[in-house]
Amino acid sequence: MCALCRQTPCDPRCPNAEEPKPAKICTQCGDGIPSGEWYYESPQGPICYGCIDDMSAQEILTILGEGMKIA
Ligand SMILES: [Zn+2]
Ligand SMILES: [Zn+2]
Repeated sequence: MCALCRQTPCDPRCPNAEEPKPAKICTQCGDGIPSGEWYYESPQGPICYGCIDDMSAQEILTILGEGMKIA
């Protein structure tokens, strides 16, 4: 329990309250990626797990830079 506001979690007005600021912003959907969440650091920027989950294997390989080739 917080000693200042005596609440758990802190009252939003308490100076000890944690900022709900995301650690990263997904470049695909624009959503915040909270710290502790998995994400992929692509050359274009962070991509959240939800976006990667929605991608096809080909899209994933493309952002991974594996260079899909046509035989
Ligand atoms: Zn507090
Ligand atoms: Zn996303």
